[in-house]
Amino acid sequence: MSQISCPECAAENGLNADIEMNEIIVCQDCGVDLEIISLDPPTVDLAPIEEEDWGE
Ligand SMILES: [Zn+2]
Repeated sequence: MSQISCPECAAENGLNADIEMNEIIVCQDCGVDLEIISLDPPTVDLAPIEEEDWGE
């Protein structure tokens, strides 16, 4: 299993084997949203903070 370091708190987070580009994961330590920006090697960046307004 791949692991990535949270850019916010540096905690190691395991990635599912079927992780996909642009998927959002949540840091298990600080709870920040992280977007998968690369798969080889696995890289994440802070996801834009979304207000709870999906405009449906
Ligand atoms: Zn974190």
